[in-house]
This record gives sequence, structure tokens and C-alpha cells, in this order.
Amino acid sequence: MTDCLFCRIVRGEIPAAKVAETDECLAFRDIAPQAPVHVLIIPRKHFGSLDEVPDASVVGAMSMLAQQVARSEGIAAAGYRCVINTGAHGGQTVGHLHMHLLGGRAHGWPPG
Ligand code: 5GP
Ligand code: ZN
Repeated sequence: MTDCLFCRIVRGEIPAAKVAETDECLAFRDIAPQAPVHVLIIPRKHFGSLDEVPDASVVGAMSMLAQQVARSEGIAAAGYRCVINTGAHGGQTVGHLHMHLLGGRAHGWPPG
């Protein structure tokens, strides 16, 4: 058991606006959206960051759920951005692996 914020969302102890779920992953809306569609995709199992995953399976499952949510949110055709901030220089603020799915507007490059 961990009192990590996103583990608490997985356990239903903190409410979240869920948009999809699978056996391995959960997708819910970011509390401070940076785009018309801003969904977080997380594994149910706790990993502190991308740097802690042992193999491709968890990120593969997250990516496939991102693809599914992009379609259900109606942003797949126009395009979208998936981001995994990792560690301090990556801008990670929540220590449970998560992928941002951002869409509904064009995104600039390079990122800030
Ligand atoms: P990071 O900066 O770690 O890549 O992203 C963490 C994200 O989690 C931020 O975009 C932030 O708005 C979001 N967030 C933080 N606390 C909560 C919360 O309690 N609920 C939801 N739905 N999102 C949160
Ligand atoms: Zn966690």
C-alpha cells in the first residue's frame, strides 16, 4: 500500500473523472487541463517514473489506451501529443508513472 496520489485514485480514495480503464491502466482527466482534451494515462501498479519500468509491457499498455482514448475523445484524426515527464528536468511533479494525452489544439515544438 502506498499513499501516492495516483495510487489513491486507482483505489478510489480520491475522486477522478475517469474516461476509460483496462485491467492494467486507468485514464482520467487532468485536474488542471492544458488543452481542450487533457487526459492522464496511468498504470494501476505503482512505478515512480518511466525510469523504473522493467520492460516494454506497461508503456505498451499505456500507449494503446492513449490511442483508444484519442479516438473516443474525437482527436485522433487531427492529431495529439503524448508526453511522459520523467524526473526533475523532465518536469515530473507526481511520482507515479503517467502519460499526458493532449489534444483539441495544435501544439508547438520545441516544448518549453
Ligand atoms: P507531471 O507534472 O508530473 O507530468 O503531471 C502531473 C499532472 O497531474 C499535472 O498535469 C497535474 O495537473 C495533475 N494532477 C495533480 N494532482 C491531480 C489530481 O488530484 N487529480 C487529477 N485528475 N490530476 C492531478
Ligand atoms: Zn502510485
